[in-house]
Parts: sequence; C-alpha cells; structure tokens
Amino acid sequence: MKIIVCVKQVPDTKEIRIDPEKGTMIRKGVPSIINPDDRHALEYALSLKDQDSNTEVVVLSMGPKQAKNALIECLCMGADQAILLSDSAFSGADTWATANTLAAAVRKLMPFDLILCGQQAIDGDTAQVGPQLAERLAIPQVTYTRAIQLEDHAIVVERQMEDGYEVVKAALPALITATRKLNTPRYMNIRDIVKIHQMDDPVQIWDLNYLKLDPDQTGLKGSPTRVKRSFSPTPSSEVTFLTGSTEEMVSSLLDALKNLNLIGK
Ligand SMILES: Cc1cc2nc3c(=O)[nH]c(=O)nc-3n(C[C@H](O)[C@H](O)[C@H](O)COP(=O)(O)OP(=O)(O)OC[C@H]3O[C@@H](n4cnc5c(N)ncnc54)[C@H](O)[C@@H]3O)c2cc1C
Repeated sequence: MKIIVCVKQVPDTKEIRIDPEKGTMIRKGVPSIINPDDRHALEYALSLKDQDSNTEVVVLSMGPKQAKNALIECLCMGADQAILLSDSAFSGADTWATANTLAAAVRKLMPFDLILCGQQAIDGDTAQVGPQLAERLAIPQVTYTRAIQLEDHAIVVERQMEDGYEVVKAALPALITATRKLNTPRYMNIRDIVKIHQMDDPVQIWDLNYLKLDPDQTGLKGSPTRVKRSFSPTPSSEVTFLTGSTEEMVSSLLDALKNLNLIGK
C-alpha cells in the first residue's frame, strides 16, 4: 500500500504576534513546526506501516527550503520518503495554487492508495487544500476524520459532525483529512534519527521544471485569491469584572442587565 501524507510547515501560532501598524504577522524569531493536524495524518499512515511492512509512507510538502526540517522530522518518525516542492514560482500560493502544485507532485507518485492531509493548517486555517487536492485528482474525499477502518480497496471513516458523527465508506484511492481525535502522534525514534542524519540528502527537492507545471498555475500568478486587508480586531466593548459577595455580584449583574433593557425593570 502506498500512502502520501501532505505536511505543511507552519509558524508556531502560540508564539505569534501581530504588528499593530502593518497588521501583518511578525514571523521573525517565531519557531516553525509541523502543522499539528498533519502529525495525526502521519501517525495514521505510520500505524498502517506498523501492521504491514510493505506499506510505503511518502511525506510531501510545498514550501520554502527550510520546510525540509519538518520533513526530516517526519522521516525520523518513520516515513520512508520525503519530497519538498520548492521553487520561487510556488511562493505566494493561495489554496487553489497550492492544490495545483501538490496534485502535480502526486501524479508523479502514482499509483497510490491513500492521501492523508490534516484537517486544517493553523496559519492559513482554511481547510481547503485537502478537498481541492482530491478534486484535482478526481478521487473520493472524506473530511474531518476521527476514526478509520481499512477494508479491501475501501476505507470506512467516522466523520466528525457538530452534534455527532457520520460513517462514510469510500473506494480507494481516496483522500482523507485528519482531526486530532484520530490518534496520538508518536515521537521521533532513535533508530530513524541516526539513519536519517547519516544520509547526505534525505529530502528530495522537486521544482517547477521537474513537475512540468505551467508557471501561470502556481504561486502568486496562479492564485485567484486577493487579500484586500488584514488587521487585528480591536475590542469593541468594555469588560467589567463584578466584585463582592455572590449576592452583591448577582444584584450588580441584574442592575446591569436592566440598564441595558435586556430584562424587565
Ligand atoms: C495571495 C496569497 C498569498 C499567500 N502567500 C503565501 C506564502 O507565500 N507562503 C505561505 O505559506 N502561505 C501563503 N499564503 C497562504 C496560503 O494560501 C495557504 O497557507 C496555503 O495555500 C494553505 O492553505 P491553508 O494554510 O489554509 O491550509 P489548509 O487548507 O487549512 O490545510 C489543510 C491541509 O492541507 C495540507 N497542506 C496545506 N498546505 C500545504 C502545503 N503547503 N504543503 C503540503 N500540504 C499542505 C496539510 O495537510 C494541511 O493540514 C498565501 C495566501 C494568499 C491568499
């Protein structure tokens, strides 16, 4: 079985601050991490490899050269092959262009059985790349996966909904997007850390020419999204903390609600 896991290197959003004047993210000094949902996608792929040593796990990322580090971490967790799609022509990509570029790489890796993505990236946060990639490849997709059962030539997936879950069966090859409920990701292991660090070039780099992509379909040129403005929302209301005994706080709260005409006087 061949499984492709799409991994995005993202800034650790716990560390992110917004420039109040420019309204842009201050990336300087912010550490980069593997997108958290992608760890769960990779864990599922590795768990299938644990059960069947013929399973091959390929990790795929589009990003700048430093995204190599995220892929090396995936190899140290047990992935077999790592490919970084990196070219100045890919930069500035929105989700549409990202999916185009990932799809071109997946076509080079055919045949495959399963593509796993995270549910969403913690920086872009759109949850669009997985579904768009499946559409480009014309394969079934199941999003918001919280449990998966593999059958012959099919997967049965529990799909998280707001008020429960639904069970969906899809024929392989298919794409699923993983939620954090799927599993607990493993750590890197010593055997793979030693093996990977003895290799000269553990991550293959594929560029525009290698993918034979039209430059108008990738990067900023291939991105129909236009960002008009980005800004940090300013607080629009004041917060008042109630103090005193429980009775006093309840009385103050009732007075405040009456003054706002939210309850009768
Ligand atoms: C005009 C414009 C310019 C932009 N320029 C840049 C830029 O230069 N650099 C940048 O990082 N972002 C840029 N972005 C943001 C970019 O659109 C998104 O980060 C990217 O397309 C993925 O979307 P997302 O983060 O919402 O991912 P989601 O759709 O939330 O991601 C879902 C899953 O898809 C997979 N995935 C997503 N992105 C990748 C990837 N790159 N490689 C492998 N798997 C992936 C992962 O499994 C992820 O968990 C730009 C956006 C716009 C609109």
